[in-house]
Amino acid sequence: MGVPGVPPGRIEAAEARERVLHAFPSWLFRFGDVFAQAGKRVWAVGGCTRDAILGRQLADFDCATDARPEEVIKLFRRVIPTGIDHGTVTVLWQGHAIEVTTLRAEVGHSDARHPDAVHFHDDIAADLARRDFTINAIALSLDASPTLIDPFEGLADLYRGLLRAVGDPLLRFSEDGLRPLRAARFASQLNFTVEDATRDAMGQTLAAFAQVSRERVRDELLKLLQGIGVVPALALLESQGLDALMLPAACLPMPTVQWETLPDLEARLVACLAKAPRRQDASAALTRLKLPNVLSRSVIDGLAALRLLPLASAAPVELRHFLATAGTEAALLAARVFPALEGGHHATCAWPDVNASAGKQAEQPGINDVPGARVAGTTEAQTRVTAEQLQSAREGASALSVRELAVGGRQVMTALGRAPGPWLGECLSALLEAVIEAPERNSEAELLRLAHAWQGSRSATIQGGILQNAPGFTGVNPANPPPKT
Ligand code: ATP
Ligand code: MG
Repeated sequence: MGVPGVPPGRIEAAEARERVLHAFPSWLFRFGDVFAQAGKRVWAVGGCTRDAILGRQLADFDCATDARPEEVIKLFRRVIPTGIDHGTVTVLWQGHAIEVTTLRAEVGHSDARHPDAVHFHDDIAADLARRDFTINAIALSLDASPTLIDPFEGLADLYRGLLRAVGDPLLRFSEDGLRPLRAARFASQLNFTVEDATRDAMGQTLAAFAQVSRERVRDELLKLLQGIGVVPALALLESQGLDALMLPAACLPMPTVQWETLPDLEARLVACLAKAPRRQDASAALTRLKLPNVLSRSVIDGLAALRLLPLASAAPVELRHFLATAGTEAALLAARVFPALEGGHHATCAWPDVNASAGKQAEQPGINDVPGARVAGTTEAQTRVTAEQLQSAREGASALSVRELAVGGRQVMTALGRAPGPWLGECLSALLEAVIEAPERNSEAELLRLAHAWQGSRSATIQGGILQNAPGFTGVNPANPPPKT
């Protein structure tokens, strides 16, 4: 709505300023007072100002100042020299950590990663000019009359939902190869469109992108994957060729995924790598991305489970076997991801090594080979077991691992009068197998009885050369066959 006589840009600026003043905490302005009292200036820049204008939750606070780093250190009691050579220190102020960077210009970027040198100055507009996107190049002075500084029309871009490089995008992306990925990251987080020239520069500066450290790529990619605009952002990475520099060719193109049904990062990573044709391709992707070990482990386990996911019509005993083989967490993760994959099991490939390493599951066909997986009139998603089914199978299981058995190794050794040896692991596995088949067997008395029977069947096998099915305990107790559950 226009106000007669007032240019629209000015109304936006006034409204934006109000929003920032309202969103910024009072301690940040008290922080600004410390600079003012020392005759220095400080501005809130980057993400906090941008997000305050957008009404988004504020994450961290980045500030720019005309004080030199050594002067900032003198102004506060607790200061960490985070990147002091480049003018950045972290001030711990009233329980908050604030990154403060001296106004600077960057000279040369011969490695396409870092400036060869920085030099400090007093010009906020020049400092904003070195920043990546116009929406990140808006500053609010933290002083008695806070003023918005917006030399590159970042506000207009914020209102339009447009991501635009500050200056010539080709030049800016060649200086620092991470910026193209940051473009896609912000597009995803904010659900913004990338302006044409900025978008085209992404694909033209791949040589610079290839030089960026894996840690920086990881940090941006993980944020991108969690954004609401992940679909167009991934399409952008693909169309500009960045995906091929982050993931092994074997995992590409990524499957089409209903991302909105997978809110968490773990599930989104599993979906991203669902096409990996072999375990080592998925591992290579995760290693390349330098993900934390715990996260990598659960993604790999989830991917392996995806390839063994039983049909929805599977009997509870089959589901218990699956849970024991895949691990409950991985099994549930796979069951959540599967329905989000367009094309269902066609979006995944059987891993040659999954079945080989999956114990009992080794005899079962891989996910792509399950006969009857495609039921006429149903979608792939409907044919697979759901997380709820798996939950109730988990609840119906009395043990899915040797640790959950009602007897321990020591008890078995005492009962059978034997010293430890490889036989013990085999015996416990056989007991677990029996309990997975019939959960009510998980009592001390029954398991010790089964252990004796196992020993008997073993010696019978050795003596008679008869192949006994010890793990299933078939014929162990004909009077009391395991109920079929
Ligand atoms: P977030 O919400 O993730 O913190 P942010 O925009 O604050 O987003 P930061 O990585 O914290 O991003 O960086 C703070 C600011 O520093 C950015 O807003 C931008 O102005 C500038 N900046 C960060 N990285 C770059 C870069 N690679 N090139 C140019 N400017 C950058
Ligand atoms: Mg930030």
